Amino acid sequence: MEYKKIQGQDEEVYEALIGEERREREGLELIPSENYVSLAVREALGSVFTNKYSEGYPGKRYYGGQDYTDVVEQLAIDRACKLFNCKYANVQPLSGAPANVATYFALLEPGDTVLGMDLSHGGHLTHGHPVTEITKVFNFVRYKMKDVETGEIDYDEMLEVAKREKPKLILAGFSAYSRELDYEKFVAIGREVGALVMADIAHIAGLIAGGAAKNPFDAGFDLMTTTTHKTLRGPRGGMILVRESEEIIAKINKAIFPGLQGGPHMNNIAAKAVAFGEALTPSYRKYAGQILKNAKAMEEVFKREGVRMIGGGTSNHLILADVFGSLGVGGAEAEKVLDEVGITVNKNVIADDPRKPMDPSGIRFGAPAITTRRFEKEDAARVAELMIETMRNKDDAKKKEEIREEITTLALEKPVPEVFG
Ligand SMILES: *Cc1c(COP(=O)(O)O)cnc(C)c1O
Repeated sequence: MEYKKIQGQDEEVYEALIGEERREREGLELIPSENYVSLAVREALGSVFTNKYSEGYPGKRYYGGQDYTDVVEQLAIDRACKLFNCKYANVQPLSGAPANVATYFALLEPGDTVLGMDLSHGGHLTHGHPVTEITKVFNFVRYKMKDVETGEIDYDEMLEVAKREKPKLILAGFSAYSRELDYEKFVAIGREVGALVMADIAHIAGLIAGGAAKNPFDAGFDLMTTTTHKTLRGPRGGMILVRESEEIIAKINKAIFPGLQGGPHMNNIAAKAVAFGEALTPSYRKYAGQILKNAKAMEEVFKREGVRMIGGGTSNHLILADVFGSLGVGGAEAEKVLDEVGITVNKNVIADDPRKPMDPSGIRFGAPAITTRRFEKEDAARVAELMIETMRNKDDAKKKEEIREEITTLALEKPVPEVFG
């Protein structure tokens, strides 16, 4: 994209934009929560819809002039329901975290208990990490993996905790977990203790939409929250999906507006509609399937090279590798040296990490963004080899320079496509 108007008017912002363009073009993005959107999505984001206030919902707004906002919001809702096979959607959450906060307030009373995945076992901050404000209002209790080497969740413990703590809501979902969950078991436990069952599919929404992962709604989950900008490959934003309960969606809608948010960001909602339209195409299904193949190709290299992975490998788009345990390189240092060769990953705590959160044992990486750049299995495997080589030679400047050149070449050969499909 050219930035002619910004260039003419604001040199400082222009320089930063051009720098980011270059960074994204020449490096490889392996952070599993990141992706590249199409130019069509960016057009919608930069559109006149950003000018409009439209508090309320389609057909029931507090301001006039809603002919076209109603059209795009309804399109986004209808397409979301089709993608995830459900009856209701709220597409107004500003991002994943506010979507989760809204569901807690919609469905719970202060002091109620939520059962979620332990943070160091892959759960998300918004599932009740002690640093988050929401823990002042609700009570969060946890389940964990039974076996860190296979990633299997301890469903017996989950049932036991659920019976003891009597949660009103059971949460399935993660941002650093590489295996599929047994959704039927969640639903069975929820029904047994009288809790609603919610999946936070922020990371894997695109895999579910593209048919490459199981849909929790098929097992009977009551509702799901998600981001729209991770594997789903849309604009930054959130969304709440409800399988069939009119009562639940009414509570959710009220919690989002007027409960917590003001005017929806209609340019963003227009971009969600465009992205969901893309996700409904056959080429998107191919994309979702290819993400799994590429992640698997990277897993095979890590396995061959003897690097321990939490959960023993991956069944989705991401890998959590114990680089400190296997290569003697801490997570923070690994993140830094990989950055030096043009590979972006993030340091990450591993289950029961003996090290500190700011310098944990692991790194987390994945294939969604490079797959958008049309990387195939062989390319993904080569990237994995270069990652391990970089970490093994972290103090060898010449070696790192060679690797950086190969990475840049690889990246420039596969630019981000402007149109997907
Ligand atoms: C990313 C993520 C979120 C938060 O999304 P933001 O858009 O960053 O607020 C919530 N839950 C899970 C599981 C996530 O991975």
